[in-house]
Amino acid sequence: MAGRSSASPRKRATRAASGERSAARAPRVGFVSLGCPKALVDSERILTQLRSEGYEVAPTYEAADVVVVNTCGFIDAAVDESLETIGEALEHNGRVIVTGCLGARPARILERHPRVLKVTGPHAYEEVVGAVHEHLPPRHDPFLDLVPPQGVRLTPRHYAYLKIAEGCNNRCSFCIIPSMRGRLVSRPIDEVLREAERLTAAGVKELLVISQDTSAYGADLRYARRRWRDTERETRFIDLARGLGELGVWVRLHYVYPYPHVDAVIPLMAEGRVLPYLDVPFQHGSPTVLKRMRRPAHAEDTLARICAWRRTCPELTLRSTFIVGFPGETEAEFAELLAWLDEAQLERVGCFKYSAVEGAAANALPGHVPPPVQEERYARFMERAALISARRLAARVGRVTRVLIDEVSGDGAIARSAGDAPQIDGVVRIAATGAAARARLRAGEWADVEIVSADAYDLTGRLTASRGEAAPRH
Ligand code: SF4
Repeated sequence: MAGRSSASPRKRATRAASGERSAARAPRVGFVSLGCPKALVDSERILTQLRSEGYEVAPTYEAADVVVVNTCGFIDAAVDESLETIGEALEHNGRVIVTGCLGARPARILERHPRVLKVTGPHAYEEVVGAVHEHLPPRHDPFLDLVPPQGVRLTPRHYAYLKIAEGCNNRCSFCIIPSMRGRLVSRPIDEVLREAERLTAAGVKELLVISQDTSAYGADLRYARRRWRDTERETRFIDLARGLGELGVWVRLHYVYPYPHVDAVIPLMAEGRVLPYLDVPFQHGSPTVLKRMRRPAHAEDTLARICAWRRTCPELTLRSTFIVGFPGETEAEFAELLAWLDEAQLERVGCFKYSAVEGAAANALPGHVPPPVQEERYARFMERAALISARRLAARVGRVTRVLIDEVSGDGAIARSAGDAPQIDGVVRIAATGAAARARLRAGEWADVEIVSADAYDLTGRLTASRGEAAPRH
């Protein structure tokens, strides 16, 4: 089952290949990447750079000459996991460089692990690569240092995260990301679109657009105009969606806030140019809680907005995350959240129980909700969300859906539809009993399936006669 509720950040061990052996041994770096997709993109960039310089990626601590740990510091559980991983790397290897969100608080790391070679904060590619050079000098061989044009990616070949900006200008009271990662810094639109082009040319079929606040993209650059494919484009959310929509692959938008200007992307979804999927972290349905959370767009009428989006694009899948048991949350406010969810009928939902994060403004709020009450609200919320999910998936039985195949096994495949982001949403299982059907299943390919059954989170389908090779419609 894919992640239903995100109780703790996911740990991602690198899956980069260890690389071909060279006659004279190349320097080897071990890499552990913890945390969210944004941290994963940082890891990919560091690895891409190191591979371009002739380093190999070691599959184990023991096989590495030095280990880089990209940490997460979002909530206390993530801090503990990061500190434990650093300890594990020190025990098995002894030469460890630390980067990532927890690296923004070096004292926290050094008091527990004084032997680490270097600590850098997030988004510090050059510093990390410099530290690797210092402790493990590169051995350059232009004939062996081959980096595929799309760089080294830690996701399967057919999908890739596309990070469009770093940092955040919001100040949500439960979050310390802005203090760790700084204010919004967008990448110019032509740079992002060129990277997307390279990825699709290298076989990527699905681009997952990420940043801390995708709807704010370009604001820091005053929506600077750049040329791409002989057309002037502004560095802004809607122009980016249009540009990516020209690439003929699935484009999935994450971390979008419900501002009025986001409405303009919904017609692109209805036309099939970007996936009819929007990941909007609503976090709560009670205006008073949202105000205490200091959420962006907290004053917007989100239910009206969702209704309008669905009128324009009935196929739209909405994904969101929520926090229950936020300081001061009363039973009445929690009931408002449940009522909001009933109205909104979101297809994909994750939930956190609020936990204090060192340095967050919300810590000082009165009325912290006792853990048993948080637990009980969490269970009620997830039960309601599961019922909605089951109902919405049941409505898809009998329909033909385009899917992207992630994995093929002996008797079928695991795939995803337009409504399923990798690792956080459900899947479409494809049963293929005959040899002819099995031969048509290939990881990284689209297929058309008829949905034959549904449970609370996942679908099951069977291949239709069409092979799903043409345009990536959904
Ligand atoms: S939008 Fe809020 S929760 Fe998200 S990174 Fe910015 S401050 Fe943190």
